[in-house]
Amino acid sequence: MDIYGSLSAVRQRIQQAAVKSGRDPSAIKLLAVSKTMSAGTVQRAYEAGQRSFAENRVQEWQDKVTQLPEDCEWHLIGRLQTNKVKYLDERINLIHSLDRLSLLETLESQGAQRNIIWPTLVQVNIARDSQKAGLLAEEVEDFLREAAGCQHIQVYGLMTIGALGASPEDTQGFFRELRLLKERLQQKNLPHVNLKELSMGMSQDFEWAIQEGSTIIRVGRQIFGERIDLNHE
Ligand SMILES: *Cc1c(COP(=O)(O)O)cnc(C)c1O
Repeated sequence: MDIYGSLSAVRQRIQQAAVKSGRDPSAIKLLAVSKTMSAGTVQRAYEAGQRSFAENRVQEWQDKVTQLPEDCEWHLIGRLQTNKVKYLDERINLIHSLDRLSLLETLESQGAQRNIIWPTLVQVNIARDSQKAGLLAEEVEDFLREAAGCQHIQVYGLMTIGALGASPEDTQGFFRELRLLKERLQQKNLPHVNLKELSMGMSQDFEWAIQEGSTIIRVGRQIFGERIDLNHE
C-alpha cells in the first residue's frame, strides 16, 4: 500500500476507535513517526495531507526540517542527549522525552540564554520496564515541582511507551494509569505545568490508547512500513 493509502487507513482506525469510546476524533493528533525515512518519503506523507511528524534524532530532524515545507509540525521523541539541546530551536513543537533532571536543567539554561520557552511532555515509564526511559510514576510529582521553578519550560502533559510484548489488557491498564496520574497531578495547579496532553499509543496499540484518553498518538510503521535500521529506537 502507498503512503496515501496507509495514512487514510490509520485515520479511519483513529476515527473508529474514537467513536467507539465516545470521543471526538479531532481531539486526537496523529504524529507520523518519520525516523529513518528519507525527506522524499516524508514529503509524500505531506502530500497526502499529513502535517505533524516525529523524529528521534536531532541531526535527522535538522536535515528534514530544511527540506520539508514550513507548515510542518515537528515533535521530538526518544532519548534527548543534553549536548544536542543546542541544536534545537522554536521549530520544535513539542519535546516528548523530558525524563531527567539534567535534561531539565540544560533546557532551562539554554532557554534562558536564547529566550526560548520549551514545550515539553514528561516521559513516564509507567510499565516499569527496565529497558525503557522515563520517570517512575512515583517520581513524577517531585519532577514537576522542579519544572514549576523553570521559567523556560512549559510542561503540557505526559508521555509513555507501552511495554514490549505486553498483553492488550496490560497495555490498556498502563495507559489508564498514565491518564489517572495526569488527572491527579493536574489538580496540583503547578506553575508552568498544564497537563492537557497524553502522548500514548504507537502502531501496535494506538486504539487502546485512544480508548484510555490519548490525545497524541505516534505511529511509524503503520504509515511508512517497516524501518530498515533496527537499532534506531
Ligand atoms: C519509533 C517510535 C514510535 C513509532 O513506533 P511504530 O511502532 O513504528 O509505530 C513511537 N514512539 C516512540 C517513542 C518511538 O521511538
